[in-house]
Amino acid sequence: MIVSKFGGTSVESAEAMARCLNIVGQNAARQPLVVLSACAGVTNTLVGLARIAREGEIPQVEEGLLRLRERHLAIARELLRTPVYEPISRSIEASFQSLRTFLHAIAVMQELTGRAQDYVVSFGEHWSTTIFAAALRERGTNALLTDSRALLVTDNRFTAAVPLMEKSRERLRESIPPLIADGGVPVTQGFIGATEEGVTTTIGRGGSDFSAAVFSALLEAEELQIWTDVDGILTADPSIVPTAMNIPEMTFDEASELAYFGARVLHPNTILPAVERNIPVRVLNSRRPDHPGTVIRRTITLHRPSVLQSIAYKEGVSLLTIRSNRTMIAPAFISHVFAVFGTHHTVIDTIVSSETGITLTVRDHERKDDIVAALEKVGSAAWHPGRAVVTVVGEGLKESVAARSQVFATLAETGVNVELVSFGGSEIGITFVIGESDIAATVRALHQKFFE
Ligand code: ADP
Ligand code: ASP
Ligand code: MG
Repeated sequence: MIVSKFGGTSVESAEAMARCLNIVGQNAARQPLVVLSACAGVTNTLVGLARIAREGEIPQVEEGLLRLRERHLAIARELLRTPVYEPISRSIEASFQSLRTFLHAIAVMQELTGRAQDYVVSFGEHWSTTIFAAALRERGTNALLTDSRALLVTDNRFTAAVPLMEKSRERLRESIPPLIADGGVPVTQGFIGATEEGVTTTIGRGGSDFSAAVFSALLEAEELQIWTDVDGILTADPSIVPTAMNIPEMTFDEASELAYFGARVLHPNTILPAVERNIPVRVLNSRRPDHPGTVIRRTITLHRPSVLQSIAYKEGVSLLTIRSNRTMIAPAFISHVFAVFGTHHTVIDTIVSSETGITLTVRDHERKDDIVAALEKVGSAAWHPGRAVVTVVGEGLKESVAARSQVFATLAETGVNVELVSFGGSEIGITFVIGESDIAATVRALHQKFFE
């Protein structure tokens, strides 16, 4: 069996969904478990509506709901014949009614918990899968809509819940293989799970990739397919480098480095469950299903024209400089700094240190004031927002001194101010920090040097 995940852009409209219906139909012999995101933009809209509800702005909530409802009913109407459309539209209407009641309750309480938000956003994936499964059935595939809350068991860290692998394995193995053995094609929601008690959770934004990866690992799938709107993983983000090219093959390490350092095409956690089981991950274009996309696997089998594989960036980063007041010896200083970030559950992306100080980057700014206050116990701390982390990735960087120096030469030619450089943390990536306004020029210059 395989797991086929379709992202939000691949199911954003009736036309986009129709392409995915064809893809699933043609792949039926490979026994897919189909995992879907919400239609593009819907999760953002739902998060927005929950917040507006908390402010008590009922008319705006009503207007937003109306537009969402129209959008989903229009997609369903286009894809389904009337006799099928009618019951599906009634079920969609009913779920909008439940959501509406819930948003009104939020407005009354003027409080939005993570738990309530997860329940609100879960409707997005519910709608997309309801329509998709019905349309698949209409096209002759025995599609079976399966609620992911009965499959993906998570802890209760709402909005960023962590899948519980053993418990999810039991649920998945009980329900999915029998459906497939009977010739069925299960269709389920990405991103959405539930606690053991059945309370709805979500596993972090962009998490449908991760759901699909967990499902593929626990079901020991032969392949995980991530269907998106570009020709696989490209040499750079095509929105800033229009000439970015397809990468036919990558290692698990390269793909996880890229995902971690910002390439939106893959959720960072996706690779891990697949690596552990050695399941190849294929990133494919639902607009061009014949394009081979990118395959991510343990080892490389094809010749590679360039030492570098890809360039990623993350914006919205802050650079933090901490200078020791020397009342502590260096190891105590370093462990104090790490302890501060541990206590505040804030992830450090990159870090360099010297005897007298540490410079690092973080993405999460919520605990800024508490973090700075705690750091100032051992020295002076300055928080510089508006930075970006750029990472160049390629297995070849391990050996190629020439390629590494070419990266720095290119940065020098661009004249960009580099505030931190890190190499050696992973061997296959060089990471550096620049100002956000320099992203496009820097990424384009590196791309031109290495790929064009
Ligand atoms: P989906 O809706 O399928 O989950 P995403 O928007 O999450 O799609 O991810 C696909 C997008 O990622 C692409 O449209 C592209 O703009 C962006 N992207 C950023 N970096 C890369 C890269 N290196 N290769 C491919 N796409 C990238
Ligand atoms: N719909 C969710 C989001 O937008 C999950 C996903 O698309 O992967 O974050
Ligand atoms: Mg995505």
